Amino acid sequence: MDCIFCKIAAGEIPSKKVYEDENVLVFHDISPQTPVHMLVIPKLHIASAAEVTGENSWVLARIFEVIAKVTAGDEFKDGFRVVSNCGSYAGQTVFHLHFHILAGKKLELKMG
Ligand code: 5GP
Ligand code: ZN
Repeated sequence: MDCIFCKIAAGEIPSKKVYEDENVLVFHDISPQTPVHMLVIPKLHIASAAEVTGENSWVLARIFEVIAKVTAGDEFKDGFRVVSNCGSYAGQTVFHLHFHILAGKKLELKMG
């Protein structure tokens, strides 16, 4: 499958890894929108939040456990945002489920 995040998860494309276990990978976004901008992905290919099912939803619990772990440091003490874009109206560009972690500055409240 020609999926860039599957290739990053498999180590075929390099990334700046922050955390990795058998199910979840966290790496720095190549084009950061905030001082700290990381992406959290399941190693399992799920195209978007719209493709979550009773069979694959267990990995979402693992993802949020990892989000809590990687945001335990001082740079996140004032807060952070977790975002997942789904589909074209939301601006999704990579069709492998991912959660942006945005931190390091006070973020705009505007959501849409
Ligand atoms: P989306 O627009 O789908 O919500 O987010 C995709 C994100 O993936 C973007 O923020 C983009 O900068 C990031 N991205 C795209 N290709 C790569 C890549 O090859 N490596 C890394 N580290 N990030 C990528
Ligand atoms: Zn994929």
